[in-house]
Amino acid sequence: MRDSNFLREQNARHIWHPMAHPAEMQANPPKIITGGKGTCVTDVDGTEVLDAVGGLWNVNLGYSSDPVKKAIAAQLDQLPYYSAFRGTSTAPAIELAHELADWFAPEGMVRSFFTSGGSDSVETALRLARQYWKVRGLGEKTKFLALKKGYHGTHFGGASANGNANFRRNYEPLMPGFFHMPAPYTYRNPFNETDPAALAKLIIQAFEDEIAFQGADTIAAVIMEPVLGAGGVMVPHESFMPAVRALCDRHDILLIADEVVTGFGRTGAWSGSRLWGVKPDMMCIAKAITSGYFPLGATLIGAKVAEAFEADKTSFGAIGHGYTYSAHPVGCAAALAALSETRRLDLAANARARGAELQAGLAKLKEKHEVVGDVRGIGLMGALELVSDRATKKAADKKMMAKAAEGAYAEGVMIRVSGSNIILSPPLILSADEVQIILGALDKAFAGL
Ligand code: PMP
Repeated sequence: MRDSNFLREQNARHIWHPMAHPAEMQANPPKIITGGKGTCVTDVDGTEVLDAVGGLWNVNLGYSSDPVKKAIAAQLDQLPYYSAFRGTSTAPAIELAHELADWFAPEGMVRSFFTSGGSDSVETALRLARQYWKVRGLGEKTKFLALKKGYHGTHFGGASANGNANFRRNYEPLMPGFFHMPAPYTYRNPFNETDPAALAKLIIQAFEDEIAFQGADTIAAVIMEPVLGAGGVMVPHESFMPAVRALCDRHDILLIADEVVTGFGRTGAWSGSRLWGVKPDMMCIAKAITSGYFPLGATLIGAKVAEAFEADKTSFGAIGHGYTYSAHPVGCAAALAALSETRRLDLAANARARGAELQAGLAKLKEKHEVVGDVRGIGLMGALELVSDRATKKAADKKMMAKAAEGAYAEGVMIRVSGSNIILSPPLILSADEVQIILGALDKAFAGL
């Protein structure tokens, strides 16, 4: 490896980073991560920190999973690549599709369409939703409903579904036909409703109004995260997603669950849909499917959608969509090993147990530190929303957020800042001691603000 000065200089000269202002990156260079072990990563200066971000919500098994590494090496030896386009398939892809349908997905999610990541999985679901209605002879059903604060990746369809101005404004005009409902965000909402169950009802009413306004015969699907992640970890009331499912059934609209973050145990259930007892029509997965060791995603397709395509007598049924790296055999082999480890270690159970400790600790931090306006979370996903004034809920500024992140890092914990939220999504192998390390570092970081 080249020395740290070279890496810093060349990073500044040649790399543009996702989700960052290029000019800002020059002034505030990123930490260069050179190693990972267990739940920790090491930077180029040799500082080791506990990774409370879990890579990017994905490294559920931590950085030292030998079974995943070995599976990748073995597959590289056996067959480093072959495509899944019409006419060919590979053994790891077939085995993985079997595993996903067999135990991971809610009952009835019978088919997998593999992709190279979360944005691809969302795009696939949106496209298949439109195509489904054409196949059904209802080609007018093209629109999508989504949630404000929702995040669905960066392709134009997903970006059009996104519910945060900072992911939309710079890329407008986005695709027509996407409409946004209020988020299940009790801390701030247009109804000033702080009770989660009452807020859920109001949002469902807003959906009903919008469907009446647009016409159900023009709407293809609702897309939503079972727990909103990147928008600031918003956990809806348990009645919310089942009510969206019932609404979709009433109006003959598909339900797409974006489980790119909530899949594979993060919430304490194998998926967010299972957490809320809902069967979506399609499900987008990625990230922890390989624990981040290889890029891979999938769109899972429920029986109703699958049957329509497979019994198709129109000219619309052929899938004119797919990626060179759809079902990459090395990715599928990585996923098979990662899922087997995830199950063997029962990481959903650990997410529940450690999650309860983490959420209790976050609530205490809110009691202790004025700067914490709101805490939210479930399982091992959490957010602390920082404010400069509790009474007016004035959001903390960039400087304060950067100081909080630096403070935690100095205490040995990597956290992620998104707007005025601190986002926590540590590896699901986290121990009880490590929960306390994260809480202790945040406590000290907040004391220094
Ligand atoms: N959907 C959700 C819910 C996500 O959180 C993300 C990424 N954070 C995506 C889609 C996009 O996934 P990717 O970055 O792998 O394209």
